[in-house]
Amino acid sequence: MQIYNSLTRQKEEFVPRQGKKVNMFVCGPTVYDYSHIGHARTYISFDVIAKYLKYKGYRVKYLQNITDIEDKIIAKAKQENKEPLTLAKEFEKAYYQDVKSLGITSVYKYAPATKYIKQIVSQVKRLKEKGFAYEIPSDGFYFDLKKFPEYGKLSGRTTESAEDAVSRIDESVNKKNKGDFNLWKFSKPGEPKWKTELGEGRPGWHIEDTAITEKHFGEQYDLHGGARDLIFPHHEAEIAQMESISGKKPFVKYWLHTGFLTINGQKMSKSLGNFITIRDTLKKYSAEALRFLVLSTHYRSPIDYREEAIKSSWAGIQRIEEFLRKLSNIRRLEVQLLSGAGEILLETRKEFLEAMDDDFNTPQAIAAIFKMIKELNPLLAENKVDKKSAKKIKKLFEEFNNILGIIPRKTKKTPNEILDMIDTREKLRRDKRYSEADDLRRQISSKGYQIEDTEHGPLVKPR
Ligand code: AMP
Repeated sequence: MQIYNSLTRQKEEFVPRQGKKVNMFVCGPTVYDYSHIGHARTYISFDVIAKYLKYKGYRVKYLQNITDIEDKIIAKAKQENKEPLTLAKEFEKAYYQDVKSLGITSVYKYAPATKYIKQIVSQVKRLKEKGFAYEIPSDGFYFDLKKFPEYGKLSGRTTESAEDAVSRIDESVNKKNKGDFNLWKFSKPGEPKWKTELGEGRPGWHIEDTAITEKHFGEQYDLHGGARDLIFPHHEAEIAQMESISGKKPFVKYWLHTGFLTINGQKMSKSLGNFITIRDTLKKYSAEALRFLVLSTHYRSPIDYREEAIKSSWAGIQRIEEFLRKLSNIRRLEVQLLSGAGEILLETRKEFLEAMDDDFNTPQAIAAIFKMIKELNPLLAENKVDKKSAKKIKKLFEEFNNILGIIPRKTKKTPNEILDMIDTREKLRRDKRYSEADDLRRQISSKGYQIEDTEHGPLVKPR
């Protein structure tokens, strides 16, 4: 199995550190607002990655942090006249509801930063003792970049260019080096604070992740994920912290980064205000449609979100459901495979696995499913698939769906009469008999159903 590793910038054979055990960590959200479909993109992708690794027989422990103390949370709480920790709790709960409704079930533990203050303090203390951290009075503790010359190895920046970067760098005039990042902030009036050996204050952003993973996984582990915006400085900082504390390299063996979900070419983000929340999207579309949309693009590539794309995903799901319905209706009991359906199944599983083994290529895996439907549909139409084969095909879909989660478990059925009319309309359109096809659309509409033509075929909706 090949995985693209951001650290080495190439695809590598996946060999976990200890046999079949995979310790996996993905950066969770900063909880000061509802999660948007950009977050959904990243978390659906890693859900499928974890599920596929489990399917391949790995024992996956997938851990995610929750940033429940941070500058943005404090700023939003101030605006809303709320306690920062109360506001964070509210949106942490909302996040759990969102991931549940998206069918994200692979995470074994969510770890809120505020529950790990003891571990965070211990890490900062060890960094200080080893000479990697220094104190700025009335400000906080900082990591001294000059002590870690390898800083920049994940993002491909030199220490100098990392120094030049201005994005999301902690501000302080008294830092030794411009890029030094904060580990612990001394308390300011009105901010949440913890009374610790470091002084009263709160953690910096980067330290929570290494404190959490050290507690659950130890000093080194297998796989770390997040979207690509986190490569620098966040993941660089994590490497600097943990490798300095432990003296062991690499801190993480495989680094995986998702591409952005953009809207009009711009990254969807809370701070830019150009976001559509997961819950608003799920009022209109199913979780499966959103998962299908996400998985139709490779996890490392960007997705520019358009409403037509999610409609087309919905239509794609309908094609699969229709096919499964046809299979359920098969009444033939002959045991033998009459027409090579068995070979098609073997070939499809092989194509699906090859795609997923190649750096989790979900669009190719989905293409293998549609290719199978296309090949089997004529056999179904000619009544050449027996009941036993139909059962095997459905079982294969279940196997795929346990990983992808794109086929709804329960759906409202479109009446057969309407499905037949839609099939006939498709045939008419293929024969370029457009006016008859339009007549049929009107008839379908008079029966209470609406059709929209999409990339994945017609989307049928009750009017
Ligand atoms: P945040 O709440 O902004 O800290 O983000 C939580 C996770 O979602 C991180 O892994 C981010 O990189 C990821 N993320 C945020 N916005 C997007 C986006 N537009 N597309 C893909 N992933 C995103």
